[in-house]
Amino acid sequence: MAKSTQLHEPDLAVLTKTGILRQKQPNYYVMRIKAVAGDLSARQLSCIAAVAEQYGKGVLHLSTRQGVEIHNVHRDNLEKALLELQQAGVEMGASGSRVRVIVACPGEETCKWGVFETKKIARELDKRYFNQDTPSKFKMAVTGCSNNCTKATENDIGIRGAIEPEWDASSCCDCGVCVKFCPVQAITRKPVGRGKNKGYRYDIDRKRCINCSICTKQCPSKAWVVGQQGYNLYIGGTMGKIPRFASLLKKQVEGEAELYDLIDKALSCYRKHGRKKERFGHMIDRIGLQAVKDEILGESPESPKNGPPLAGS
Ligand code: SF4
Ligand code: SF4
Ligand code: SF4
Repeated sequence: MAKSTQLHEPDLAVLTKTGILRQKQPNYYVMRIKAVAGDLSARQLSCIAAVAEQYGKGVLHLSTRQGVEIHNVHRDNLEKALLELQQAGVEMGASGSRVRVIVACPGEETCKWGVFETKKIARELDKRYFNQDTPSKFKMAVTGCSNNCTKATENDIGIRGAIEPEWDASSCCDCGVCVKFCPVQAITRKPVGRGKNKGYRYDIDRKRCINCSICTKQCPSKAWVVGQQGYNLYIGGTMGKIPRFASLLKKQVEGEAELYDLIDKALSCYRKHGRKKERFGHMIDRIGLQAVKDEILGESPESPKNGPPLAGS
């Protein structure tokens, strides 16, 4: 007869820190699977489905953060289910006061609006930060453009692809498409010169521009080209009981090295000042956005590159 695989309480205490959550039904658990950027292979998914058939109730639950959960697993079966998942290279997610699984949209891999490789950044964030302890839960999302499909501004750290468009006068056919399509009316046509030298130019109000890339993608003459390309970095977004829209920490972070350096500093700042169970955004509201920005950016007054805080900050 097979030996009992029942887990004892201390083991379960550890497991609940690694994506295994107690259900309200005594002795039943939720197994939260890790899917960085929402990606799982077909092989992994079929193993997850088989485990749900065998040890759950044959149903998978898709969470709001791109996760897959197997519900209704009895504690006696947790160890066997975990082993089978591990054998297919399936990892567990996280719960409690720590960095959760990183969410990302497809980005430029398949989306025509994407301005960078969101999944590559998500995988790197996973390697650097996943499951690290924090004062409260800590969520990160990567979104490929200002459409913000992953709701990066509702996360403790939100990374959004951003470009700075540049106008090339020699290519422009003066069709006006860019003025029509810019979602924030940042582009204006201005007359220049007089008499024979009379002409026009298209200008951008850089403060108004949300770095979305619509002009560079819609211009039929390729007269708007991508200048700088980078990431807008947001901090302190959260949903839950007290929702808070994220604040812009820095516009146009230019490279991955700077991005991770700023995220390291944001996490250090949160660990230093955050109270137990206090979300990052609520800590920011308690001690002041400018003080937090000064500490993370290491500069005061604010860099001219940094835009105003977003609504709700
Ligand atoms: S955020 Fe942009 S890049 Fe990402 S899926 Fe949405 S439209 Fe595409
Ligand atoms: S990047 Fe977007 S917001 Fe900025 S000027 Fe172009 S269309 Fe307008
Ligand atoms: S869409 Fe392109 S070609 Fe048309 S007015 Fe704008 S910059 Fe010029």
